[in-house]
Amino acid sequence: MTGKIPNGPASKETSIVHFETKAIHAGRGVDPATGAISIPLHTSTTFERSADGSFPSGFEYTRDANPTRNAFEAAMAALEGGQEAIAFASGMAAIAAIFEAHPSRGRVILPNDMYFGIRSLIDETDVGSRFEFAPVDMRNLEDVRSAVKARPTGLVWIETPSNPMIRLVDIAAVCQIAHEAGALAVVDNTWATPVLQRPLELGADAVMHSATKYIGGHSDMMAGVVVVPSFSALERPLRMIQKHKGSVAAPFDCWLALRGLQTLPVRMRAHCDGALKVANALSALPRVEKVLFPGLASDPGHDLAKRQMTGFGAMLSFIVAGGADAAMAMAGRLKLVVRATSLGGTHSLIEHRASVEGPKSMAPGGLLRMSVGLEHVQDIIDDLMQALAD
Ligand SMILES: *Cc1c(COP(=O)(O)O)cnc(C)c1O
Repeated sequence: MTGKIPNGPASKETSIVHFETKAIHAGRGVDPATGAISIPLHTSTTFERSADGSFPSGFEYTRDANPTRNAFEAAMAALEGGQEAIAFASGMAAIAAIFEAHPSRGRVILPNDMYFGIRSLIDETDVGSRFEFAPVDMRNLEDVRSAVKARPTGLVWIETPSNPMIRLVDIAAVCQIAHEAGALAVVDNTWATPVLQRPLELGADAVMHSATKYIGGHSDMMAGVVVVPSFSALERPLRMIQKHKGSVAAPFDCWLALRGLQTLPVRMRAHCDGALKVANALSALPRVEKVLFPGLASDPGHDLAKRQMTGFGAMLSFIVAGGADAAMAMAGRLKLVVRATSLGGTHSLIEHRASVEGPKSMAPGGLLRMSVGLEHVQDIIDDLMQALAD
């Protein structure tokens, strides 16, 4: 990373042990110029040279490096236990950069249930023709093993919990299989956040986030970030894609992400508490065929979630009896929970995935996906109850 972060002494950061404290302090410090405790938002695109032509601050041009973006990157690296983070304009920009950056540029193994944007990236841009993609059910480790053995594989993509079926994938086991085959393993950690799950500690070669979701936390910014450990084969190519292809995270979005990080641990705990209560309430209703949520003891991902995560997350899906029409009608009766895509903000959001994804969707017709927000949980439950009553 070029350019220094305008903050207090690095020694203060290295002495920080606990995650909650890192979320507030890592990558930041009191501004030495002004004493401001809130990190300054540096919107300047360019930085002054000295008379001798050097750049005394280390900063030159914001696409290459920006103080606010550097601080966000340093904070993310600290929270995921990585060495470097590279911030992009969106989660999708980060994903596209990873596909392009993986060293062998060979086959990519993907989960068969994953963020739909990746499917669109493959189907509707040149990415689909430049790489070979093979989807597998990553809950089945034998399937992963035969997929990586079938053809030389460069990258194994992991998403857990997955979208929209809320499936759990054993990160450590899949990383090991990938490594035995000489492939890199990358985890999309958007839904769990580093509060609940830290994939680098489980062997992942990189962690990716849509910071648009829980990290920003208020549905008002867009950014993506990739965190890599030391000596990562991905680090330089990702940095060069960021810098030269230019889909960099904007300073203001980085500033909002840094603000979001400060409350991420407490927000995640509140999101998780609410989601478990909502899942239990939905499970008791006859008009709900099934609730997909790893916090339920009956969920196939429950034991793995207990091992791999420090909380069950706040994304859940449920299947309304009567299929797509009944699910749409139920969502149409909601008064508090907002019908909108995306997730991870303060507002509870609900979405009928099959109609959002269109004809290629593999989501069951009756499935509604919900991001449980930070409203009082009884208000959320009451709204769902009234919508499912008639
Ligand atoms: C939203 C999301 C993305 C894409 O991020 P954007 O910021 O919307 O580009 C990728 N993966 C997951 C799991 C997501 O939820």
